[in-house]
Amino acid sequence: MPRPAKAPADPTPTTPAKSAPQKALEKLGLVRPIDLALHIPLRYEDETQIALLKDCREGDQAQIEGEVTACEVAYRPRRQLLVTLEDGTDTCTLRFFNFYPSQQKQLAVGQRIRARGELRGGMFGWQMLHPVCKSAGGALPTALTPVYPTVAGLPQPYLRRAVLSGLEHAARIGALDDTLPTAALEAPGTAALWSLQRALSFLHYPSPDVSVAQLEDRSHPAWQRLKLEELLAQQLSQLQSKRERDALRAPVLQARCQGLRDQLLAAIPFSLTAAQQRVGSEIAHDIAQPIPMHRLLQGDVGSGKTVVAALAAAVCMDAGHQCALMAPTEILAEQHFRKLIGWLEPLGIQVAWLTGSQKTKERREMLALIASGQAGLVVGTHAVIQDKVQFHRLALAIIDEQHRFGVKQRLALREKMVSQPVDAPNLKINRPPALQNIAGAAIKNEADDFDRAPSMEPHLLMMTATPIPRTLAMSYYADLDVSTIDELPPGRTPIVTKVVSDARRGEVVQRIRAQIDAGRQVYWVCPLIEESEALDLTNATQTHEELSSALQGTVLLAAIGGKSQRQPIMVGLLHSRMLPADKKAVMAQFTSGQMQVLVSTTVIEVGVDVPNASLMVIEHAERFGLSQLHQLRGRVGRGAAASACVLMYGTGDSGKLGENARARLKVMAQSNDGFEIAKQDLEIRGPGEFLGARQSGAALLRFADLTTDTQLLHTARQLAPLMLDQHKDLTEKHIARWLGGRVDYLKA
Ligand code: ADP
Ligand code: MG
Repeated sequence: MPRPAKAPADPTPTTPAKSAPQKALEKLGLVRPIDLALHIPLRYEDETQIALLKDCREGDQAQIEGEVTACEVAYRPRRQLLVTLEDGTDTCTLRFFNFYPSQQKQLAVGQRIRARGELRGGMFGWQMLHPVCKSAGGALPTALTPVYPTVAGLPQPYLRRAVLSGLEHAARIGALDDTLPTAALEAPGTAALWSLQRALSFLHYPSPDVSVAQLEDRSHPAWQRLKLEELLAQQLSQLQSKRERDALRAPVLQARCQGLRDQLLAAIPFSLTAAQQRVGSEIAHDIAQPIPMHRLLQGDVGSGKTVVAALAAAVCMDAGHQCALMAPTEILAEQHFRKLIGWLEPLGIQVAWLTGSQKTKERREMLALIASGQAGLVVGTHAVIQDKVQFHRLALAIIDEQHRFGVKQRLALREKMVSQPVDAPNLKINRPPALQNIAGAAIKNEADDFDRAPSMEPHLLMMTATPIPRTLAMSYYADLDVSTIDELPPGRTPIVTKVVSDARRGEVVQRIRAQIDAGRQVYWVCPLIEESEALDLTNATQTHEELSSALQGTVLLAAIGGKSQRQPIMVGLLHSRMLPADKKAVMAQFTSGQMQVLVSTTVIEVGVDVPNASLMVIEHAERFGLSQLHQLRGRVGRGAAASACVLMYGTGDSGKLGENARARLKVMAQSNDGFEIAKQDLEIRGPGEFLGARQSGAALLRFADLTTDTQLLHTARQLAPLMLDQHKDLTEKHIARWLGGRVDYLKA
């Protein structure tokens, strides 16, 4: 290792009380020696050379050495210490506005000192503002000096010593030993791989001749090693949890010929797209295994995920088990409930409904239906995972819009299975006679053999309309199986998206009028104002009033019985503060077509399905994220009519759109493809925000960058199974090094 700038000193105090810097270290998560060793510098300072003033240029970060020829406190324009330093080639004035008497002593006339800072030229010659000074003499360091990311109360010199001692300590106890199997190190493409110890020593104290560009863009071999290590840890831990899961048991759910699934297929008014059929059979294959499925079903908004889920549910119920479907909002849950009841009730399935706002009596009835097994399918919001809910034979859990749920909630749903009573009788499904004949004694019910080992898990199907870009899925979702619906049902016309300024509100209202006259419906979404829900509401209420008066008039409604009649145009309002019953009433009016315009806050963001709606207006679209905009836009274009989305932006006081907002709106105008949008979103926001710590629950990658390190990601993906199969000890060691105490890493 090159000689560091400062001699190491052990920061561990002899007294048990923790010092402020120590507490700060802990706050940064720098506890174990390896944590310190992995605390990589933000940048470096070059203290390895002394510059001569005559060779310097304006703006240089320079270290100069010379004799103090003047040192005085001046009072104009304000109190300051002025020191003149002479290095034999020129002089430089060092200026300090804050200084201590001790500094004055250090910088007294006749002292030889070293000063480092940014050089400025000027009328009075060279100057340095607040340079770092120390006595001259002493050997120059041979490596660059690291500057670490830090927090208040943790001075750089203290942190430097702590990291260096951590690095040495880690090396001593073998925490930096190579965990990559020798075979891996000899694999093609890894020939130039540095050892971890070499890489870390270098990154903390690089030799001065290093290519700064290679350090900055992290393409240096030392960086490559560090990133591969990190990606490998991520792959290993996920592969490990996947294998643990594979050791668990789940009920085998097999579709029967002419069973419930086939009957449902025959009953729905359309035929499945090829993509729906493909993902359907992927799911069918998984749930027919005695191993719990963990599958993510991704498909753009409107691609028809619901019916795929319903078909899986049918297989599950046909085998005598229960299925739960959880949605993030009440509106969405209710919509699923209605749709599924329409499909399943005629087939003899009882569907239960659970939500937080339910009346006690109804809720009690539902809970009884669920506990007794009479309800084959349970649809609801978060209420589905509450303590009181006792399933009878839950075997399939479906989570819609999974990105809206946290890891905790996903775990809770899985645990429902484990908490089921052990000796429950069979699920009673009240089937119509025709079905009962088919399901007669000849066909053995899977549920009869169901062995209730405590480790029995439900199959898990997660659905999302926010597609995860491929590299991200390979990295953060490596333990999940992914099915993708990459095709929309036929007959949809692409949505035309227009980006217009707020100033053209009048034209937008005209456009709404034209849609209403054509018998179509319109959404108007008001922005979310983060700091204030109340303000949100005022906005939506105001817009609602404005639109109501601007759109006054009548509309021709096709009434039942063939006679059409004129009715006043109806503009509705929906926001999150409304009582659930009122929300429900408004949604029902809009769904039935009685209401032409629905003004709402983002409560309609996910999943709402009203095919007659053909225009979506989003106000202050610049305040929304890309995936949110795409989801909102996906509320239209669900029928055969040409649909449009108007993104209205306000420019605020500055009169200009921010750079990011402009980029987002441009992406929206150019693409209707959820995957393309997700990719751009990832580029604009980075994986941290894209995934949202809340939903991933995962430690985010600190070093690797998925946009540039795909090659390393592939290497890590190849190495992980090999290591897990052949080098258990090395695997453990590697995971411990990188993930330490965080063992709950991505298990749900
Ligand atoms: P999402 O994937 O966004 O949840 P939905 O499941 O709500 O989409 O489906 C959107 C609409 O498309 C629904 O009205 C649904 O009934 C309809 N649909 C689904 N599959 C097909 C298909 N294969 N052909 C025609 N319409 C379909
Ligand atoms: Mg949906």
